[in-house]
Amino acid sequence: MSISENISRLKAEIPGHVSIIAVSKRKSAEDVMQAYVAGHRIFGENRVQELIEKQPLLPEDLKWHMIGHLQTNKVKFIAGFVDMIHSVDSIKLLRTIDKEALKNKRTIPVLLQVFIADEETKFGFSEEELNNLLQSEEFAALKNVRIDGLMGMATYTPDMEQVRSEFRYLREVFKRIKNACFAASDNFRHISMGMSGDYEIAIDEGSTMIRVGTIIFGARNY
Ligand SMILES: *Cc1c(COP(=O)(O)O)cnc(C)c1O
Repeated sequence: MSISENISRLKAEIPGHVSIIAVSKRKSAEDVMQAYVAGHRIFGENRVQELIEKQPLLPEDLKWHMIGHLQTNKVKFIAGFVDMIHSVDSIKLLRTIDKEALKNKRTIPVLLQVFIADEETKFGFSEEELNNLLQSEEFAALKNVRIDGLMGMATYTPDMEQVRSEFRYLREVFKRIKNACFAASDNFRHISMGMSGDYEIAIDEGSTMIRVGTIIFGARNY
């Protein structure tokens, strides 16, 4: 099946309130262009280097989401154009994004990454750390970041019940944080969870943004 067929099939299959982030990492600008021509606009990359190489080759109205671990010293390269950063996992990174957004005279929408997996290699805040961060004066002083919700990555395991319970946990954290810190905010409404192997479960458990590469572009050759 072609990239455009993969996208239309996926769009037909999922509920309308769920956005698709087409993860184009390790795929060419030509592949991205095929999805673009089919009408798709939101793409995800996990490395700054690859993102800044691809971005100038593609149309301006394409929306780029940074979904991978981001080093503070690289924020400046994407702050001018990135549409959303899913992977904010420290106050230092949040502060840097705020500073670089201000330099670019804009506000950058971000998601806070929550650690939900059973793997030390994954990044993210615990619920307690999130609460401390969101109630801090330091956080209150940030004016050029907008917190649109939470993001999480489940454990890489064939045990789909474990994956489901991790997604369910993220949804519960989302609800508690929403009530405690963002009850009056319309922006805090996203839960970014689910990849090619588990997006159906993620949607069942309340995902509003799925990050899918393989089922759109095919397998990657690393
Ligand atoms: C690569 C990647 C994905 C998509 O993976 P697929 O299995 O190809 O759908 C989603 N999220 C993040 C953070 C990724 O790095």
